[in-house]
Amino acid sequence: MLRELDSGVLLRLLDLQAHDSAIKRLWDQRDTLPEKQRLGELRDNLAELEADIAIARQQSEDAARVQSRLEGEITLADEKIQRQEARLFAGSVSNPRELSSLQAEVAMLKRQRGASEDELLEAMVHRDTVDQTLGSLTAEQAQSASAAEELGVTVTRLTGDIESELASHTKQRDSVATAIPADLLDLYEKIRATKGGVGAAALKGSTCEGCHTQLPAKEAERIRAEGGLQRCDNCRRILVVV
Ligand SMILES: [Zn+2]
Repeated sequence: MLRELDSGVLLRLLDLQAHDSAIKRLWDQRDTLPEKQRLGELRDNLAELEADIAIARQQSEDAARVQSRLEGEITLADEKIQRQEARLFAGSVSNPRELSSLQAEVAMLKRQRGASEDELLEAMVHRDTVDQTLGSLTAEQAQSASAAEELGVTVTRLTGDIESELASHTKQRDSVATAIPADLLDLYEKIRATKGGVGAAALKGSTCEGCHTQLPAKEAERIRAEGGLQRCDNCRRILVVV
């Protein structure tokens, strides 16, 4: 029965193949959009940035806590020094041993205060560094987030365009398929499944457009003369004379 196919049906098969090839190309295009890949990278980068920011924020909080502890210690030391110096200068302590012990205590408090001040300076420098890191990470995050948002819009638009092209080809494909005999369609699908998505190919001159092989002139002539269902000797795809 397939031998008796008229050329109109075979040409429809070629039309079907064109739609199927377009559909496959659009699927590939949709799945490999460079913008989509870039968006994935941006989102991965954002996730990493957020983790880094969480660490930097913790470090900044720790640094602020250290600074305020040292500031508190210095204030307390100042108060203590003032109190003891007031006692010294008021002349209320007259016992020489008590006096020298008070002087020694003031000197020790001042040494401790000096050490705390050195520590405070270091803590402030460290806090500055940590806050700068936090600031630049936050700025980078904002920039990446806005780039990702923009790219997300582009990906949605591009995907939408591809989807509508896909819908159009699918609709046309289904309409063409209804006018093709079921057994021919079945054979076409079976070949297509094993031949990279191409089940039917045009015979142009003596060249099979499926495998781009030139058939012997006699073979091409025979195919043209016989008509009906013919297959390429080389790739076994259905050949359609055009
Ligand atoms: Zn071929």
